Amino acid sequence: MDYQQVIEEVYEEVNALQLKGKVASYIPELSSVDPNQFGIAIVDLAGNVYGVGDYQKPFSIQSISKVFTLTMVFHKFKTKLWSRVNVEPSGNPFNSIAQLEYEKGIPRNPFINAGALVITDALTTKYAQPTTEILSFINELSGKTCVEINEVIKNSEMKHADRNTALAYFLKAYKNFDNDIAEVLDVYFAHCAMEMSCVDLARAFSFLANDGYSIFAQREIISESYARRINALMLTCGFYDESGEFAFRVGLPGKSGVGGGIAAVMPHKFSVAVWSPELNEKGNSVKAIKALELLTDKLSFSLF
Ligand code: GLN
Repeated sequence: MDYQQVIEEVYEEVNALQLKGKVASYIPELSSVDPNQFGIAIVDLAGNVYGVGDYQKPFSIQSISKVFTLTMVFHKFKTKLWSRVNVEPSGNPFNSIAQLEYEKGIPRNPFINAGALVITDALTTKYAQPTTEILSFINELSGKTCVEINEVIKNSEMKHADRNTALAYFLKAYKNFDNDIAEVLDVYFAHCAMEMSCVDLARAFSFLANDGYSIFAQREIISESYARRINALMLTCGFYDESGEFAFRVGLPGKSGVGGGIAAVMPHKFSVAVWSPELNEKGNSVKAIKALELLTDKLSFSLF
């Protein structure tokens, strides 16, 4: 299968559709990116890279970072983690406060903001320098030093942190938050403000297409059964209240971020990252979703 030719076709076809969305503006600094950027990268399990458009340009990975933080705590906490966070789709926006209240401080899943804050809290308990640990973990997964924290975006989000701060206080009130709130939020905003290109992101996700073994880190990152579970969580919860729609249209486990990126995997074949900043009303990139839908159609495979 000639992945290069397929992604070039997808790139042209998506561009021709002139899809429109809105660049995220609730983090003001995110809205200053050029909305027309668009890139696709595929990395197969031999490490071959296929790329088109802005696939080498770093962008704000935002919530895609939650897959890395979950991977870091998953095998360390084993079943204990699942008493603090559930594994059900939320059917609600990623920053919903109401659901956390009526479910008594146990977030629906690790990918909505409340769940990711619990994960970052667990990492803060575990490591003296959690942000540095997250950075070096992602670099290891990519097989090179490629991750940078964009301090301007981090500070921009910190200045508009009311909802995430409220979620953290709710978690604390329900005794599901161990560390100092400001300290954990600092780590959370730092990992959301990390920047990577499509190609480096696809490299970092490669272990999830490969039963937990990273060809770039040259080691088993997590066991096959844990990799399977992270993929199941991405498939059911990776796109917030659009997860069903993404599974229906694309059929791959994946994770989106409000920077406009999506990283996904076709188990035993490849990992893929697509980026374009304009989002739909659920906070997912319009072009990236369309590109992945066309890609799985053209390759005529998905999980289903
Ligand atoms: N940093 C963003 C937030 O907490 C991440 C959200 C996202 O990418 N969906 O709101």
